[in-house]
Amino acid sequence: MKRRYAAFFALAALMLTRSLLPPPGAAVAAAGETRLPASQTKYVALTFDDGPRADTTPRLLDGLRQRGASATFFLVGEQIDANADVVKRMKEEGHQVGNHTWSHIRIKGASNALVEAEVSKTDAEIRKVLGDGVYWVRPPYGLIDESQEKLFTVPLVRWSVDPEDWKLRNADADVKAVLSHVRPGDIILMHDSVPASVDAALRIVDTLEAQGYEFVTVQELLELYGVTPQPGVAYRSARLQQG
Ligand SMILES: [Zn+2]
Repeated sequence: MKRRYAAFFALAALMLTRSLLPPPGAAVAAAGETRLPASQTKYVALTFDDGPRADTTPRLLDGLRQRGASATFFLVGEQIDANADVVKRMKEEGHQVGNHTWSHIRIKGASNALVEAEVSKTDAEIRKVLGDGVYWVRPPYGLIDESQEKLFTVPLVRWSVDPEDWKLRNADADVKAVLSHVRPGDIILMHDSVPASVDAALRIVDTLEAQGYEFVTVQELLELYGVTPQPGVAYRSARLQQG
């Protein structure tokens, strides 16, 4: 492991440790135990990959703001600089921002050196726009070896509901696929790079909010379920804890 790589992960580890200290009096679930949120609210996390995109992401942000919904965005590093204003909006409007590698590589089977370059370059780019923070990672395609997961000192995010919106590119089909599968605690995968997905996501928010759901970030979702996010662990839903 190159020194630069080690430094990035050491720094991330330090920041993660700080940010993960439970607030005073917070109940922490024992290992292997999932605590259900105390309220009757049904929480769910919408996540968007492959942005930011100037032609689609701002419209999604407008719609989420109108609906009081938070989401999580996993950004492709090479698209950040040209869309820095959009990335700033994400943070300002209460969304979680994460890392989706620099050029959307398949991490599974890639060398540590390539993964290092792709992840640390994107992390630096996000910091340039948003400042210090802990920027979680979603591996493109969800493909990563278990041995590679352990190299990360930030949490990794998978999903439990996948409407295959990038393939369907049809809002009606996306809405149907999500609504027929979603349950409280789910992490929903969508793509803000696809216009139909933006339409679908806002319809999904409208429908589920009317059913008593609240849209929170992935970090908030896990914490609401009493899960303390761990570095190098991939989370698929708040119910399953990891997977
Ligand atoms: Zn992707």
